[in-house]
Amino acid sequence: MKFSLSLLSICILSFILIYSCSTEEEESVAPVVQTPEPIPVKYTLTVSAAEGGTVSSEGGTYDEGTEIEIIATPNVGYVFGGWIGSNSTSASISLNLSANIELEAMFLSINSINNDPLLFNYDTSKSYIGELVDFYPSAFFASDVPQYIRESLNNALKTAADRYGKYGPVEFWSLGTEEAAAQELLNLYCERRDHLNHSDKQSCLIGMEDNFMDRAKVGRDAIQNGECRVDGSHSGGFQWGFHDMRTTYLMGFDDSFDCRPFGDDYFTIVHEYFHVVQLASVFNLESEVRRNRVAPNDAIWMIEGAAQYMGKYTVYKLQDEGISIFPSNKWTGGLRNGMKDSMVDGKYHFNLCPDIEFSRIKGSDNCRQAAYSLGAWAVAYLINKVGNQNILTDTFYPNLSSLGFEGAFNLAFGYSSEEFYEEFDTFLKLPIEQQLEIIPDI
Ligand SMILES: [Zn+2]
Repeated sequence: MKFSLSLLSICILSFILIYSCSTEEEESVAPVVQTPEPIPVKYTLTVSAAEGGTVSSEGGTYDEGTEIEIIATPNVGYVFGGWIGSNSTSASISLNLSANIELEAMFLSINSINNDPLLFNYDTSKSYIGELVDFYPSAFFASDVPQYIRESLNNALKTAADRYGKYGPVEFWSLGTEEAAAQELLNLYCERRDHLNHSDKQSCLIGMEDNFMDRAKVGRDAIQNGECRVDGSHSGGFQWGFHDMRTTYLMGFDDSFDCRPFGDDYFTIVHEYFHVVQLASVFNLESEVRRNRVAPNDAIWMIEGAAQYMGKYTVYKLQDEGISIFPSNKWTGGLRNGMKDSMVDGKYHFNLCPDIEFSRIKGSDNCRQAAYSLGAWAVAYLINKVGNQNILTDTFYPNLSSLGFEGAFNLAFGYSSEEFYEEFDTFLKLPIEQQLEIIPDI
């Protein structure tokens, strides 16, 4: 009876486990517990959305291998900026769970400067070349650039974009002084190029290394030698469809260097940004044609003079409006005073090449600075002639691509450039007091 009972219990147990129990096997059945079916491995997916948008799912616990699609949707005024926890740049992401995953969708306001080189404040699948856009430029900083310099550059860029138009995409790469930090920034620059299929990372690193290192050296030398030098540049980017901007260490924004006023760096940023406006108008053209539109016969007075004058005008105008970003070490004396200095500087440099006409000064001439300083006066003269401070962005540059330099000049200013050169030659001989009358009193 005892035996039968235990046999019965084995039978029942086996039945439960293997669904059958044969009496014929009574003698050989051992009381072995069969291995249970493996319990599926489960993973946790956690999905969240940063400020500016939503995600289609918050995640949950799923069996290994489950396919899940998550979609990030930006709110109005934002764009999808990437995922924390994934390299995907797509707002819609498909996952096959094989580990616990945490994802956060990032969104960027189109109303601010993007400072993260891994994020994009515009739709990277679109081309915006030469178009007015609704998103701001980006500014990326070497790790040794202090926060207050970053804020000042962001402010200058945002202001310039608000006043002169947003053309995209624009990337401002701002160097510090340390080599290691420049190397890190170069790495981010090349990751971004790789990400956007502009260039593979390795060839980018090789091609751009000197450029980034040299710029860090400019800042380092400027501080060590007390030279107070800052170089900004529009470094092209045409082949990749973006405005590639650089700046060396912005020591004017750093108040530990008295030798360079805050306004000088603000001016530099606006000057360089104005090149974005100018070049956006001819961005699509083949390089030689483009060059000839903005600087016919390589004469630089218009491209550099306009950037100089708009830069100066903007700084004095902002100071005049009491914009709070300007610290106490303001540019002094107003725009007329600034332009008076430009006349002196321009005439001094012009005398260095007496055989070259003002309208023909090239970037390679040793009197090139005259084209900057007298060019600023030439542009101020033209603006005053038509009585429209925005004539360059309203009429001249928007028509430059289709009409060419002379056509756009005629349309904007009502006469030929030759007629203007003659008139301006006479103007340059006037006493300074009379010349200053054409400059706004700000
Ligand atoms: Zn320039």
